[in-house]
Order: sequence, then structure tokens, then C-alpha cells
Amino acid sequence: MAEIALQDVEKYFGDNYVIRKLNLTIAHKEFVVLLGPSGCGKTTTLRAIAGLETIDTGDIRIDGRPVQDLRPSDRDIAFVFQLYALYPHLTAYDNIAFPLRATRESKAAVDAQVQAVAKSLKIEHLLKVRPSALSGGDMQRIAIGRALVRRPKAMLMDEPIGSLDAKLREDMRSELKRLHIENDSTTVYVTHDQVEAMSLADRVAIMNDGVLQQVGTPGEVYQYPTNLFVAQFIGSPVMNILPVAVRTTGPGTELVVGNNDAVFAFSADLPKHLSQKSYESLMLGVRPEGVLLVPEETPGYIPVKAHIIEPLGAYDIVDLKIGDEYLRSRTPSGMVKRVGDTVWARLDEAQTHFFDTKSGDSL
Ligand code: ADP
Ligand code: MG
Repeated sequence: MAEIALQDVEKYFGDNYVIRKLNLTIAHKEFVVLLGPSGCGKTTTLRAIAGLETIDTGDIRIDGRPVQDLRPSDRDIAFVFQLYALYPHLTAYDNIAFPLRATRESKAAVDAQVQAVAKSLKIEHLLKVRPSALSGGDMQRIAIGRALVRRPKAMLMDEPIGSLDAKLREDMRSELKRLHIENDSTTVYVTHDQVEAMSLADRVAIMNDGVLQQVGTPGEVYQYPTNLFVAQFIGSPVMNILPVAVRTTGPGTELVVGNNDAVFAFSADLPKHLSQKSYESLMLGVRPEGVLLVPEETPGYIPVKAHIIEPLGAYDIVDLKIGDEYLRSRTPSGMVKRVGDTVWARLDEAQTHFFDTKSGDSL
């Protein structure tokens, strides 16, 4: 069992807070990813859970037991860093076996555990090699092996695959997910890479500037971002955000962009409080896949000009220019032929979001 609960955790370095009123409970066997830009406090949070960093206020509990007075080595938690931190003079085998040395187990018992971990990481053939002769990906496998060998009840990983190249990162990503499932351990994983976070996490916890912004499944944070920060941090290409005014027209609603530069019809009834907002205080958010384009004039669609076309193979990203604003659309490849062409656009109402310009909060 390992449930990790952080309650009102705060951490200051001098006068600056690094973690502010953090409340987060990671369930037994859950894979939670702490996601956020560099400097937002992810590593500090992880180190606090491990006991490598003290906290100024609040409470961290593992399975209900406050751990402030527990040394890192007594928390039964393993930590994997971005930089492998292997012992260069030891073979891969001895690096993995290292944490077991203190346990006074028999040589045969240690060997059985090292072999089992090596098998699950597919590194049996590397056990006699020293780290300097290994590739980055293999070194990281050894580091993970060393963390897993004690069968800790929780694994903390700080950008463990951040230094590997793209292809290897993808391979390791699936392996980490598999290992998590096989090992039945609770995992807290730190990354600034939203794709990595979304593909690994049961739940993603998004931080900015020391403050937890939102916690949810990948689907929840993608579809229901609670504020502008989350909306723009999750998803690639990023969500379009542009100021709009809501205008009620007898039968329906219109979203007005710029100085009447584009007027999108909106059939759904928008909540009243939105139409009472001024242009300065309302932001429309719509992901590129929610900007629908067709090549010919079509009822319900408005004419717009293609400004930039990025052919990405499976689909194209087309930037539309609307007055002073740009709107990105993800369209079937080849549908928009040339820059400067007029195409017809509408917004998929189910994929629109509204935010308060000042607070950034979802409305
Ligand atoms: P992240 O892992 O999200 O990039 P960190 O937790 O490493 O962020 O750091 C969060 C903030 O705390 C940063 O502004 C960083 O400069 C600051 N910080 C981290 N460690 C220390 C320290 N030992 N002393 C002073 N400031 C620190
Ligand atoms: Mg960090």
C-alpha cells in the first residue's frame, strides 16, 4: 500500500514561495504526473515527498502516517533522477544490486531479485557492463532497475527520460507504463512535457509558479481546462485564445471577433452571464480541431483567408487571419490548397470554451 497525501504544503526559499498551499492525494497504485513549466516547483515537490527537502508548512502523509520525522531511507520510496546517477566503477549488475546490500540477504536471494528486474527491463545482456560503456537509454534502464529492485511501495521519477532522444523516449514511455502496472507501486512522475504526461498518467496535476492549477485525468484536463494556463499548456498545437463579444440576435447567438472581422453563428444557448461580459473581459478558447473548414461556400460557415499552411502528413495546420487575430485549424491534409485562398469556417460549439480575460478562469 502507498497512498501519498499532501495537505496545505508550502515551501519557501528565502521570501519566495516555491510551493504554495499544495493539496494533492495520490491513490495507492495510481500513476500521477506533475506537469508544468521549468521552475514551477515540480522537483521540489517530489523531493519533499522523498524527504530530501523539508517543507515549511503543511503535512505529507504516506498511508495516513505523517512522514516529516521519517528519514528518506525509512520512507520505502525509490527515486529516479533525470541524470542516471549510477556508480561508474560498478557494473550494471552491482549498480542494480546496490540497494540490496544493506538488507543482508543471501547472495542467491540478491541474484534472483537482480535477474528478475533485469528481465523485466530487458537488460540481462548488459549486467556485466560498466555505465561508461552504455548508451543513455541503457543507463536509464539500469537506474530504473536500481530503483525497482527493492520493490518500493512508491516510485518517484524526475524527468527520467528527458535526456533521451525522441524515439527512445517513446519506447521508454511505454515501458515505464508497463513497469508501473507490473510492479503495483504508486508512481509520482515529473515532466514538463505534456505529451509524456498525457500518455503516462492516470491523473495529471498541472502546476504553474508553485500553484497547483488542476488535477484530472488526461481527458478531463484536455476537455475541461479550469483556466487559461491549463488550456494553453495542454494540447498541441495549442488552443486558440481570442477576445470575443457575444451578441444575441433574435433566434440565436453570435460570437464577434475583432471589429466585426468575423461573426460566428452560435446555435447553442450561451449562459446569460457570458453575453453580459464586455469584449475586454471575455476570451474564446477553441482547439484547432474545433475550427472546422470546408472548401466551398456552405450555410453556417463564414469566409476566411488561409494565411499559413503547415502540412504535417496526417493532417494540415492552417492559420486563418481574422482582422488582427489568427485562428488555427487542424484540417484534413490537402484540403486548403494555397496560402491566400478563401475557405469557409465554423466553430464546433462542443469544443468551445470561455474564459475571464482578467482572472483566466474558465466561465
Ligand atoms: P521545476 O522542477 O518545476 O523546474 P524546481 O522545483 O526545481 O522547479 O524549482 C522551483 C523554484 O525553486 C525555482 O524558481 C528554483 O530556482 C527554486 N529553487 C529550487 N531549489 C532551490 C534552492 N535550493 N534554493 C533556492 N531556490 C531554489
Ligand atoms: Mg525539475
